[in-house]
Amino acid sequence: MIILKHSFLIDIKLFLLTLLKKNWLDKKGYYYHLSTLKEYQKINFNELIKNIHDELKKCVFIKNLKGDYTVFLSNYGAFGSFNKPNIVYANLQRKPEEISLTIIHEIIHLMLEKDDSFKRLNHEEKEKMVEKRFKELTQVND
Ligand SMILES: [Zn+2]
Repeated sequence: MIILKHSFLIDIKLFLLTLLKKNWLDKKGYYYHLSTLKEYQKINFNELIKNIHDELKKCVFIKNLKGDYTVFLSNYGAFGSFNKPNIVYANLQRKPEEISLTIIHEIIHLMLEKDDSFKRLNHEEKEKMVEKRFKELTQVND
C-alpha cells in the first residue's frame, strides 16, 4: 500500500537537505526546488493526493505491490528521493502523472536497494538499473 502525505517538518528537512546537496545536484544536472509555489496556500492536498492515487492505480506493478510505502509530497527537493527502507519524497510542483512516475521510480530504488550487489553500484549504474526495471515493470500497463 502507498500512503501519500504532506508534512511541514518534512518540507523543512528536504529544504535543508537540498541546500546541503546543492553542489552535487548542480553537478549532476538535476532539477530541484528550493522555493515554494506561489500558489502554495491554494494547494488542495486531498485533491492532489486523490489524483496521484488515481494515476498510481493505473500501474499494475503498483496494484500488486507488497509492503507499505509512505510518500511525502513536498515543495522542495529534487523530483524524487528516498529513505530506506520505505520512505519516498516526491516534489509536488508537477502534474499528478509525472509525480506518480517519480514515485514508481523511487519505489523501484527502494526494492533494489535490498540487494547487496545493487548497493555496490555507483549512482549512474543504479539509475540505469532502475530505469531498466521501470520499463519492465510498467510495460504490462498498455
Ligand atoms: Zn533514480
